Amino acid sequence: MKKNKLYFVVGAGPSGLTASIKIKELNNDNQVILIDKNDSIGKKIKVSGNGKCNLANINTNIDLINNSTYCHELFQDGYQKINNFFSETLGILLFTDENGLVYPNSLTSETLISSYLEKISSLGISLKLEEEFLSFTSEINQILVKTTKDTYLVDYLVFATGGRTYYKNYNNNVIRELEKYSVKYEDFIPSLTGYLLKESVKELSKKRIKGTIKLTSNNEIIYSELGEIQFKDDGISGINVMNSSCYYAKLKDKSKCKLFIDFYPTLEKETLDLLIKKREINNFLKGSLPLEFYKYLIKNNKVLTLDILKNYPFTINGVYSFDYAQVSEGGIILNEINSNYSLKKVPNVFVLGELINASFICGGYNIMHAVLSALKMVENLK
Ligand SMILES: Cc1cc2nc3c(=O)[nH]c(=O)nc-3n(C[C@H](O)[C@H](O)[C@H](O)COP(=O)(O)OP(=O)(O)OC[C@H]3O[C@@H](n4cnc5c(N)ncnc54)[C@H](O)[C@@H]3O)c2cc1C
Repeated sequence: MKKNKLYFVVGAGPSGLTASIKIKELNNDNQVILIDKNDSIGKKIKVSGNGKCNLANINTNIDLINNSTYCHELFQDGYQKINNFFSETLGILLFTDENGLVYPNSLTSETLISSYLEKISSLGISLKLEEEFLSFTSEINQILVKTTKDTYLVDYLVFATGGRTYYKNYNNNVIRELEKYSVKYEDFIPSLTGYLLKESVKELSKKRIKGTIKLTSNNEIIYSELGEIQFKDDGISGINVMNSSCYYAKLKDKSKCKLFIDFYPTLEKETLDLLIKKREINNFLKGSLPLEFYKYLIKNNKVLTLDILKNYPFTINGVYSFDYAQVSEGGIILNEINSNYSLKKVPNVFVLGELINASFICGGYNIMHAVLSALKMVENLK
């Protein structure tokens, strides 16, 4: 590895923070400048997991949704690496719940943010807040970077600017700049969000029910999960619904998609049939569903069959916007990136985290991806 190099990292989320720390740890002679347009670091870390910060998951053997070779390679020993980084490098004790979701033991994202800040400061990383990346020019062996406050001549440029969600003042600068070098990307769209429904569900607004959500495409189930489904004025949300939206976001042709809810997920069809026959359907529904759902089903269906109760159809009318989504689908496509996260078309420029076209279901996988991408990038600098 070359010595005394200047790394310029854009974005102080989990990927940019982790990369900055590991670059400096790798060689203390490296100079690292880390900028963020916000007035504090890790704004999304702060709100993640409802402020508890679900930062990883020990179950990495699951179907991590397309990009499969990429994901399986990155995640296979991912938990071990994450655990080492958070406990050894940042000094954070981790806690794993009964479902394998990993949190800081303090159950607050503040622990993560203060540990990152402390490490950034103790390593002498130059953190510049409220400074926004504007443009770059790749020159022979160096890169000229322009920000809202200054101009820098750097050796390596790392983009860790995340996706489109959450930040109100999203700016497309990075993608626009990379486009100048013919780097290909997919437009960002909301993922991990709720569905807008064509049917009126206003009367169920703010009500919840335990059910299995099933997303189909071309009549084939592409995602199903049991959980608590939350109804809104014009649609539905909930963890299982959001997870299914992650699959929905990845589909090129969304016109063949349908949504179904199994209102009796714990009962087999045969058992349900017997119970209905025993009590007469109206009485059975009244005695087994929350009142509003009972009324909704009776009002909106002339005939209620077993099939309808197990596969109640809804029509997707789009998804809730970036303001509600937890991640975005889209970003720099994987084919543009080498295995060390450098860009194939622009020398000495790296892209990390959610800026890459790889997003995941809930459960800690998105922060895990951001951190693992940064760790892998720096491992390969050795
Ligand atoms: C409400 C909510 C809850 C979530 N909960 C979880 C959870 O529990 N578990 C989980 O794994 N994931 C969760 N996520 C997703 C997770 O937070 C992100 O996937 C993760 O933070 C992505 O990390 P990143 O480093 O790639 O980008 P980010 O965290 O988005 O960081 C990017 C940084 O770049 C900065 N930036 C962008 N453009 C510029 C520019 N031009 N110049 C300078 N700075 C710039 C931004 O200000 C930002 O600080 C949640 C997201 C939201 C919104």
